[in-house]
Amino acid sequence: MSDTNAPATRSMDAIVSLCRRRGFIFQSSEIYGGINGFWDYGPLGTALKRNLKNAWWNDIVDRELLGPDGKPVDIVGVDCTIIMNPKTWVASGHVGGFNDPMVDCKESKARYRADHLACICLNGQTEGGQIYAYVSGDDDSLARARKALDKYCKRTLQDTDVATCPFSALSAAERGITVGPDAKTPGSLTEPRMFNLMFETHCGAIRDADSLAYLRPETAQGIFANFWNIVDTSRVKVPFGIAQVGKAFRNEVTPRNFTFRSREFEQMEIEFFIRPDSANEWYAWWRDQRFAWWQSIGLAGENLLLRAHDKDELAHYAKTGAGTSDIEYRFPFTSPGFGELEGVAHRADFDLKAHATHCGKGDKMRYFDQERNERYFPHVIEPSAGADRGTLALLCEAYTPDPARPSGVYMKFNPRMAPIKAAVYPLVNKEGMPEIAESLYRELRREWSVEFDEKQSIGKRYARMDEAGTPYCFTVDGDTATDQAVTVRHRDSLQQERIGIGQVKEWLRERIG
Ligand code: ATP
Repeated sequence: MSDTNAPATRSMDAIVSLCRRRGFIFQSSEIYGGINGFWDYGPLGTALKRNLKNAWWNDIVDRELLGPDGKPVDIVGVDCTIIMNPKTWVASGHVGGFNDPMVDCKESKARYRADHLACICLNGQTEGGQIYAYVSGDDDSLARARKALDKYCKRTLQDTDVATCPFSALSAAERGITVGPDAKTPGSLTEPRMFNLMFETHCGAIRDADSLAYLRPETAQGIFANFWNIVDTSRVKVPFGIAQVGKAFRNEVTPRNFTFRSREFEQMEIEFFIRPDSANEWYAWWRDQRFAWWQSIGLAGENLLLRAHDKDELAHYAKTGAGTSDIEYRFPFTSPGFGELEGVAHRADFDLKAHATHCGKGDKMRYFDQERNERYFPHVIEPSAGADRGTLALLCEAYTPDPARPSGVYMKFNPRMAPIKAAVYPLVNKEGMPEIAESLYRELRREWSVEFDEKQSIGKRYARMDEAGTPYCFTVDGDTATDQAVTVRHRDSLQQERIGIGQVKEWLRERIG
């Protein structure tokens, strides 16, 4: 996560509470107390996430996309299994290297990612004094550590009295005097140990080493493993891409920040296969294309950042390549820093070569480029995005406090993303108004997700739609029967205007597509 100096403006607690209250997101199996790192989407959240995924698929696979040379870009879809032959994960490097350093607390039994732990102590007192660990980015955890340090020093310390450092920078002796984030006694945190993030399972009735399998930790490898099938069975030619949307599973050591770091999540990945000598051009094009896409669906402001990786951040396969960039969003819990939404990486020919080697066919698996009459392993540009992090960014961006409204807040979704596109209301539940409203509702419902509601005061119904982020509400009133017009209320400006009932459909189509 990178930093800027922008202040935190939105409260995550308020956003989480709205998500729960209005049915965007619930804890998985909440009736049993939930399960850490797993989340369910309610009706509004499901619609929001589906709109995000559909927009991605439409804009990437279905619609014409013009590449850097102005020619249409060829991208096809796949839908691969979650469980694959375990050799896949040996070839991809996940069995050997998909590890995070993990620290256990012997006292609280909590487990932390070592690179997520930071420490504070009295300036100049790493030896002899007491050190307090906290989870970086978690304000409550930091506040607890500061309180404990104040208590230990028997005074209220100023910021200038306190020194901070990453847990990984402590010596063994310093770790011995460090109190864990949820503990009271020093020395309870273990040495960092490597922990593989893949969920394991067994296929078949016998649970032994031969039946061991993994839940995929990314959707990308299904694409790579099918590269040859797709070249053989469709008319694609390099450059072309394969896209997939689907679930991925990672046994994250410390799932946190709502859905941002979950153990089950959805990815939207493209592997774009190119000639090795065109990597710079395609990498730059995809990076800019993907950044512009997130802007187009409503993350247009200064909360979105395109950040090129420093050389020391690059994955091993990317070291000599065209580069890696992250598209990052400033979430309330990362602010003033940013958290990753999508990575765009030049992966060179690492994955195709690795699969060719591990399946035993080696160079025979090289792609034959008819135009050039040459064989090679194509290079890959990989834009890899998270559907859950994308949905969370849309929720955080949309959340707009407004004390003047009865709901106190409204969700300013881009209309293309809005779970409900419009509501149709009779002003009162009598005098023919419900019948006219219902017939308009039915007409609109043929094309869009539209809500009809005749209960409660009109103010309460508008407030519900403000919280759901519905861009337009159409109200049938006492004049409608005579002037054949309805009042449309705009969610953001609260302006109201009168339009002919026969024009509503076209009016809406122009605004939401
Ligand atoms: P991080 O550094 O935050 O763990 P990553 O670099 O490991 O992320 P990738 O392996 O590049 O992530 O995965 C691609 C995308 O998948 C990420 O940009 C993110 O949107 C999503 N993603 C990865 N891990 C998680 C997770 N635990 N929960 C939700 N989304 C995730």
